[in-house]
Amino acid sequence: MVDTLRANITSREMRDEDYPKVSIACEYGRHKAYGHSLKCHSSIKTPVKYVKPLYQALTAFGTPPEVKRNLATGKVTYIGTCAEDSAANQVIIAINISTGHYPRMKDLKFTNPVRTRNFQCKKFCDVCKAIF
Ligand SMILES: [Zn+2]
Repeated sequence: MVDTLRANITSREMRDEDYPKVSIACEYGRHKAYGHSLKCHSSIKTPVKYVKPLYQALTAFGTPPEVKRNLATGKVTYIGTCAEDSAANQVIIAINISTGHYPRMKDLKFTNPVRTRNFQCKKFCDVCKAIF
């Protein structure tokens, strides 16, 4: 039974569009939000509306939501599907409602991204590192 579960988890992790759910918290002043990573295929069915500055920042890397694999290096790039994007989006919306302004992306504070399935900490992906 455990082996079957482990095999399922392992094979799931091999699929880009089905990577394990990651959660994070984002903070700016008194505004806080939790975000969860999206599965790319489900976010295409119910698209996320990103606020303008975040959407613009993301489109510098591709069209969100998008999962890209560089065939030469095997490297995977997530655009608009990270927990960071979801948390930041909610915080930016809340700040914009209360102040009428958008914060600087670099001023948003985050916890470490955590794989909720096994409590492992993740690192920021390259796109998130560049934006936040
Ligand atoms: Zn990311």
